Amino acid sequence: MKVDVLIVGAGFAGASTAFHLSRSFAGSILVIDQESVPGFHASGRNAAMVRQHEEREDIRRAAAASRRAYDRYQPELGFRQVGSLLLASADRLEAMREPARIESYLLSPREARRRVPLLDCHEFGAALWTPADGIMDISALLQLYLTGSRERGVSFLFDCRLRGCRGTGPFRLDTTQGEIMAHRLVNAAGAWAPRVSRLAGASSVPMLPLKRHLFVLGRVPRVGADWPIVWNLVDNFYFRPESDGLLISVCDEGVTESLEPTVDADMTEELAQLCWSKLPQLRDAVQERVWSCFRTKATDTSFVIGWDPTLENFFWVAALGGHGMGVSWEVGRRAAGKFLNRAHSDSFDPDRFL
Ligand SMILES: Cc1cc2nc3c(=O)[nH]c(=O)nc-3n(C[C@H](O)[C@H](O)[C@H](O)COP(=O)(O)OP(=O)(O)OC[C@H]3O[C@@H](n4cnc5c(N)ncnc54)[C@H](O)[C@@H]3O)c2cc1C
Repeated sequence: MKVDVLIVGAGFAGASTAFHLSRSFAGSILVIDQESVPGFHASGRNAAMVRQHEEREDIRRAAAASRRAYDRYQPELGFRQVGSLLLASADRLEAMREPARIESYLLSPREARRRVPLLDCHEFGAALWTPADGIMDISALLQLYLTGSRERGVSFLFDCRLRGCRGTGPFRLDTTQGEIMAHRLVNAAGAWAPRVSRLAGASSVPMLPLKRHLFVLGRVPRVGADWPIVWNLVDNFYFRPESDGLLISVCDEGVTESLEPTVDADMTEELAQLCWSKLPQLRDAVQERVWSCFRTKATDTSFVIGWDPTLENFFWVAALGGHGMGVSWEVGRRAAGKFLNRAHSDSFDPDRFL
């Protein structure tokens, strides 16, 4: 098989890139994934939160642009605009706040507790209320990208793992479904992006997959389905409503050799400690579900989107960290723009590490 562009990975990075690229690129595009369904890894196991205020300005702006785009696809996306509360010191929140672009308000702890009574016995300095944030139907968002791509002629091949690579455009790619020739290769392989880069002989961009667990708790007293997302940036935890209970994380960042999304036994103990020390109303809640997956972060915590600085025809859409679902619209749009216009440059360029 011969294609102009081969995208490795059918998560949010690969799917959104295919969606945007196919709008203006006339050549053939094939997306492959080692799994039998799209979004099997981080893209299907994340916390589904669309949040705009972030400490890095480049990510914050990409998040705000994505959030505006999603309004055009409602109600299809099933987005629930519950808002978000970031908890930290007033100075820290004020420093990341961009009221001109993102509507937001600094609230006192008292006002935040009025909205979320679970915070009653919890100490924090201030809260940043961002009303347009919310919870996405992640499968609907992924389908939007996949369906749009397919309608414009993009092909998808599942159960197809890239395991070897020779040449540099055309690349001769050895996959579990035979050889594929591709003029250009897009690395959207999530936690496996460093491995795909090594297979192709591309630059070594410093990034690390970090394991994170999510829990669903039931039997939570007085939980409101309309509660906002709550993220404490100082004590490192977040929660949001999920069915009749809460989805909660202790914001762990485990470094492991294996990329298997297994559950570590000690994480239940960490969650129990958080509940006892910071959120006493959750002490009797029941753990209904737990799972883990990997957030892949570059050392400077920004995204890696652009042409490889040393290997010709090799393009990166990786290191989306903990933002890759909510910011996926702008990630794909930016990737397509850089793919087509090689001169375009920004803070996501891979060559910043040279
Ligand atoms: C616990 C957790 C909570 C999160 N919460 C949020 C949140 O609330 N909001 C938010 O915006 N983001 C969140 N994220 C981050 C978000 O999920 C990721 O940034 C995003 O899904 C990354 O997408 P991706 O396409 O880069 O990676 P992935 O979804 O991992 O996709 C990469 C794909 O590449 C495929 N692949 C890899 N190697 C090969 C190969 N050799 N051949 C073929 N295919 C290959 C894999 O099978 C995989 O499907 C969270 C992440 C985690 C882990």
